[in-house]
Amino acid sequence: MSLFEKFKLGLKKSSVSIKSGIKDIFSSSKIDDETLSKFEDLLISADIGTDITSEIKNELKKTKVDKEKGHQFINNYLLKYMSNILLPCEKNLDQIKTAVPTILLVSGVNGVGKTTTIGKIANYFKGKGHKVLVGAADTFRAAAIEQLENWAKKINVEITKSSQGSDPASVAYRAIETSISNNFNQVLIDTAGRLQNKKNLMEEYKKIANVTKKIDESAPHDVILVLDATSGQNVLNQVEEFNKIIPITGLVMTKLDGTAKGGILLAVAKKYKIPIIALGLGEKEDDLQIFEAEKFADAFTQIT
Ligand code: GDP
Ligand code: MG
Repeated sequence: MSLFEKFKLGLKKSSVSIKSGIKDIFSSSKIDDETLSKFEDLLISADIGTDITSEIKNELKKTKVDKEKGHQFINNYLLKYMSNILLPCEKNLDQIKTAVPTILLVSGVNGVGKTTTIGKIANYFKGKGHKVLVGAADTFRAAAIEQLENWAKKINVEITKSSQGSDPASVAYRAIETSISNNFNQVLIDTAGRLQNKKNLMEEYKKIANVTKKIDESAPHDVILVLDATSGQNVLNQVEEFNKIIPITGLVMTKLDGTAKGGILLAVAKKYKIPIIALGLGEKEDDLQIFEAEKFADAFTQIT
């Protein structure tokens, strides 16, 4: 099964069926307030959010629709609408290389899939023949260090680590030093799953970023925020808060293989226009889909 198929299958698991939903709603060849309001509910249930939903509704109110092909028209309209927002946000993982070594800081709240995503991205770079280092700067729990170690072993990349409770910024510092003196192409720094409203944890996160600048002023070259698609509208708040501390340069949305609704990615793209790097579609090293706007929009609107 291709990753695209997997993605469709994942979206299918959610209670939302965009394609058949549209077909049902617009079956009576009538586009009026009632059908539009049903369509609004459908979009909201797909996690697209109220802002985009009302915009779509207002635009459709003004649009002349071929009544015979109402549902097809709406489906194409949604596909185009999504592509327009998402296309400017496409950022290939290969575009990430801006320096050698490229220092990537990976952040996000607890459990979203940061460590797993680091494993997948490291594996991607490794596959390109790059020399990759991972830095275990989530020193909050021993299990977190061990988890990254297991990934490093599994995909055969090197790791810089320290003991539980040690200063995360110093682990990051050592990882970068190592990557410079040993000619690594990329260093991916894992961070603790900090809640964006816990001030001291955010300060610590900032400290990690500052330490990277001590070695290389242009670092971190990429700040990747990992988002869990199953978190719903809460995701917007996470982007807002993390972006305030260090500007995010790339997003990864995980767990789109599960019960996710996916529409939240559109809401994030519309509001923040932050590049999207990849999608997480499982727990294995190759369950990573490089983000392609049109493929995403297509899969999303084709869910039956
Ligand atoms: P962290 O706390 O942000 O580092 O999150 P982890 O990387 O430890 O992931 C938390 C859980 O989510 C683990 O059980 C992962 O296997 C799982 N996970 C991560 N990414 C994905 C994904 O794309 N799909 C699925 N189904 N599970 C994922
Ligand atoms: Mg982790």
